[in-house]
Amino acid sequence: MSGKLFEYAPAPESRDIVDIRATYGLFIGGEWVDSTGEDHHKSINPATEEVLAEVAFATAEDVDRAVTAARQAYDKVWGPMPGRERAKYLFRIARLIQERSRELAVLESIDNGKPIRESRDVDVPLVAAHFFYYAGWADKLEHAGFGPAPRPLGVAGQVIPWNFPLLMLAWKIAPALACGNTVVLKPAETTPLTALLFAEICRQADLPPGVVNIITGAGGTGRALVEHQGVDKVAFTGSTDVGRQIARSVAGTGKKLTLELGGKAANVVFDDAPLDQAVEGIVNGIFFNQGHVCCAGSRLLVQESIAEELLDRLKTRMATLRVGDPLDKNTDIGAINSAAQLDKIRELSQAGEDEGATRWSPPCELPERGFWFAPTVFTGVAASHRIAREEIFGPVLSVLTFRTPAEAIEKANNTPYGLSAGVWTEKGSRILWMAERLRAGVVWANTFNKFDPASPFGGYKESGFGREGGRHGLGAYLK
Ligand code: NAD
Repeated sequence: MSGKLFEYAPAPESRDIVDIRATYGLFIGGEWVDSTGEDHHKSINPATEEVLAEVAFATAEDVDRAVTAARQAYDKVWGPMPGRERAKYLFRIARLIQERSRELAVLESIDNGKPIRESRDVDVPLVAAHFFYYAGWADKLEHAGFGPAPRPLGVAGQVIPWNFPLLMLAWKIAPALACGNTVVLKPAETTPLTALLFAEICRQADLPPGVVNIITGAGGTGRALVEHQGVDKVAFTGSTDVGRQIARSVAGTGKKLTLELGGKAANVVFDDAPLDQAVEGIVNGIFFNQGHVCCAGSRLLVQESIAEELLDRLKTRMATLRVGDPLDKNTDIGAINSAAQLDKIRELSQAGEDEGATRWSPPCELPERGFWFAPTVFTGVAASHRIAREEIFGPVLSVLTFRTPAEAIEKANNTPYGLSAGVWTEKGSRILWMAERLRAGVVWANTFNKFDPASPFGGYKESGFGREGGRHGLGAYLK
């Protein structure tokens, strides 16, 4: 059959809908203000290396201004406001996100590098759903199982990573606001633009000034925020190393803390699994969002008797993945978010080869400019290899095999992380048996990377503590 049959014409989404300013200040107290410092950073499009905008790196003084604005808003307006009134603002924000969804999706893809198909069909709809979901809780907190009159904590300092910029913002801001807290949020330095557009949405929703403050910057700004004495609650999503530093700095201060950290999930395929569905789940598990996913199924554990057949089918499927322009609606795998992340993926992949695993990628032409990495699978991986132990945070799958369910559990749990896991089998009893024994916050059965605002998400062990999403997510923002 001719390959031509399956070629796709370019189908780029227009970027005209987004209006990116040349420079951005900080969003504090409902206003755009200049930073007190001189430090600025260029946010670039990782698919083209084009400079998109310059954003300020907030100083400790800026952080103090933002926390003060959040405190005033908490004391005077948001804390005393009845839940049913707060809900109206959250519903309004949710509807504005839906109204402006195309703009948000295009901007997210430009700033982050993720395919428009994902930002349009996954990220942004989930962001809106999160605000709708927590809007629904705002006037029902006394029925949520946290006592008859649960109280907010006060000011939340929130720091998020670059892999799901807007979705992580929603996971942080929606429950905090629903519970009556005010927030100061810092997006990651490589992906600040959708958080800054969200600031505009807060204004459009007439959210009282100071309830949401967005300050941009890198690790130094994040540190100043989590260490600020006026912050009552710290919510962090990012790497385990930084999470450890934050845990140390917050210890003994009385601040409430939740940490959502790294992962090295096992996706376990048994010999009775529906193989074509499992292949889709494996692909979705590791190549969704270029593998920049904390709960990515980066370790495939496959039962030995079907390993060869499954790998053949997986490779055939991988050869159909289209890597390229994130704004093209046919793209499956977009750009790696930054040069630094690309270096890390390359370094770990090289270590995989050096340690003796076998590397394979389908033939695939990568664009010349920008940061790209072909979908990659390593076979012959041993549990001791770095690629089996360390989080790669890229489109790289490590394959290990097992013979018995007990061995699958032992291998799956042989990691300091514990964020997620997947099980593929047609037996319901085996799913339950596995789910009871897997040390992971989320266990997916015959699916992977499925998210819903009503279900809690969070880690075991070095993947962090606390839960975001669902009723559990309210507990992180209530006394
Ligand atoms: P990172 O820890 O380097 O950075 C995360 C955020 O923390 C950024 O905003 C950064 O500026 C800030 N930061 C850096 N140093 C800081 C410090 N000392 N104090 C306060 N803030 C600081 O992580 P990253 O590379 O941006 O993100 C990737 C990591 O995030 C991966 O390990 C991934 O697994 C994890 N992640 C986890 C979840 C989850 O829900 N568990 C979700 C997404 C990403």
